[in-house]
Amino acid sequence: MTATKKDVLAVLRTIEDPELKRDVVTLNMVQRVDVAEGRAIVELKLPQRAAGFKEAMRQAAKQGIEGLGLVPDVTFSIDLAGSGSAPDGPGAGASNPLPRVKHVIAVGAGKGGVGKSTVSINLAVGLARAGKKVGLMDGDIYGPSVPTMLGTDRYEVRAEGKILVPFEVHGIKTMTIGALVEDDKPLIWRGPMAHGAFQQLATQTDWGDLDFLIIDLPPGTGDVPLTMSQLLPLTGAVVVCTPQKVAQDDAKRAINMFRQLQIEVLGLVENMSFFIGDDGKEYDLFGRGGAEMLAQQSGVPFMGAIPINTNLRRHSDAGDPTANFTGEDTLSAALEAVTRSVARQVEVHVASGAGVGPTLNIL
Ligand code: ADP
Repeated sequence: MTATKKDVLAVLRTIEDPELKRDVVTLNMVQRVDVAEGRAIVELKLPQRAAGFKEAMRQAAKQGIEGLGLVPDVTFSIDLAGSGSAPDGPGAGASNPLPRVKHVIAVGAGKGGVGKSTVSINLAVGLARAGKKVGLMDGDIYGPSVPTMLGTDRYEVRAEGKILVPFEVHGIKTMTIGALVEDDKPLIWRGPMAHGAFQQLATQTDWGDLDFLIIDLPPGTGDVPLTMSQLLPLTGAVVVCTPQKVAQDDAKRAINMFRQLQIEVLGLVENMSFFIGDDGKEYDLFGRGGAEMLAQQSGVPFMGAIPINTNLRRHSDAGDPTANFTGEDTLSAALEAVTRSVARQVEVHVASGAGVGPTLNIL
């Protein structure tokens, strides 16, 4: 039997962008696939970022196509203008499942443990304290820590029909996968389950009217950001990074991932930037300023630095983020500065015409 276009597409589905770990079909890099007279004609369009993967992709495509008994004719073009094509999603014209939410903002990080959930929570509480209507969705479905940090781990989840009723704490609405599973069970989700869980939390929670829905993403560049980009129209993403060189490399990958998914990176937050000792002195433990440098190099706004702070950790463990804003000055000042910076970048985004809502005077 002669191979068909479908067989060639199946081959292309095995070829991955090594950085995003997604195949070239899912990433909409395939411009043309034709099979005619024993030849498979394939055209791929790569973002500039992925230009270096061209030869490896060509070899893999050739090998696969020859395996089908066809002569490969594989050509590439490089997309110099954009960050690359993203899979179809609300940005590509699909309907918006959250029409009552003005701004969806994702918080991501290249790896775990850098304070992504801490920043998500304090950003949500900070915006609420500034008078905004805010929801926080714990999209970190593999390791939800939001329930502990908000103190909702003691609460029973309620549903009305198929719709989840969010918890209302610290001035925000929140829903988490942690409310739906037992907290000491490991969360092992296969791709489609992760997709379903994320979708349920985002679209089957009664968020009501919100100015901001903050989404705490899982660390790294896995399935969930892709699901999110297909499902929700995002205003943009905030990337959290610690100052060390190795952390910057991970953050760079996160920035590239958002760009590949055509999600604007609103800015970079440096967490665990420095430590203030009992003597009042500032100690530079991890190389303060590293994330700011990365922000400059990557052409994204720097949104401020949060120090290592024992009270911040203590209030997180106690599920009381409000205390971060009512206590000592250095902590509340740093968190409020980051909140203002995020709000400002949303204003810039709206003013640039990229936003969907009306121009806001945010803070
Ligand atoms: P991630 O979401 O990136 O995995 P978390 O926000 O869960 O990281 O933070 C990991 C741990 O570090 C938590 O115990 C948190 O309270 C603590 N932590 C985060 N940022 C700080 C900080 N600036 N100062 C002190 N502790 C912090």
